[in-house]
Amino acid sequence: MRIALIAHDEKKPDMVTFCEEQLPILSKHELFATGTTGTLVKKETGLDVHCFKSGPLGGDQEIGARVARGEIDIIVFFRDPLTAQPHEPDVSALFRLSDVYQIPLASNPNTARHLFRSLSCK
Ligand code: PGA
Repeated sequence: MRIALIAHDEKKPDMVTFCEEQLPILSKHELFATGTTGTLVKKETGLDVHCFKSGPLGGDQEIGARVARGEIDIIVFFRDPLTAQPHEPDVSALFRLSDVYQIPLASNPNTARHLFRSLSCK
């Protein structure tokens, strides 16, 4: 599976914890991420992650383009619901595309854990 990882700044510690916890599963899949999230995940977990641009600089849109081309199977996007984001339109666009193409998107760690339980059965 091709999995996209994105976390807003306040949620990056949650993303690192999630990736550490799910290491055995994540290491079997192809990982993509926005720039800062991916760099941090690589550094903290040693996972191989393909990094796009940082989210506010177009990274969410790069992942959106991949979704539209059928090149992403799962999105883990830990969104910060309490902080205004300069690139909110890009964030909404990615959530919208996930619905257009029916790509599972987990927006918080508990949802992601449930989703990954189905991956651990494969
Ligand atoms: P980042 O982008 O991983 O480069 O911080 C995430 C986002 O805010 O979309």
